[in-house]
Amino acid sequence: MTATPAPTDLLLRDLQERPWAAYAACRRADPDLFFPGPEGTPDAAVRICRGCPVLAECRDWALGTKVRYGVWGAMTERERRRTLRKSA
Ligand code: SF4
Repeated sequence: MTATPAPTDLLLRDLQERPWAAYAACRRADPDLFFPGPEGTPDAAVRICRGCPVLAECRDWALGTKVRYGVWGAMTERERRRTLRKSA
């Protein structure tokens, strides 16, 4: 079984492209909070995001790259899809 990557494992893969990820509040958070699945709740991840100093950068990245799964920038998958549909 493969462990779920921490949100910042993804973000930190290319710090030159996303230097803001070094300041992510989710660096030490439980990755499962950010990928709660259909039975879980995103509330704990959203709370962490709301206190994150790079929330705006992360949200822009998540919307810009259309990242499909997980909570990013305090937004769930559904919220990102809705935002992207409205801006299309
Ligand atoms: S906004 Fe949330 S997902 Fe994005 S870097 Fe911050 S804590 Fe992590």
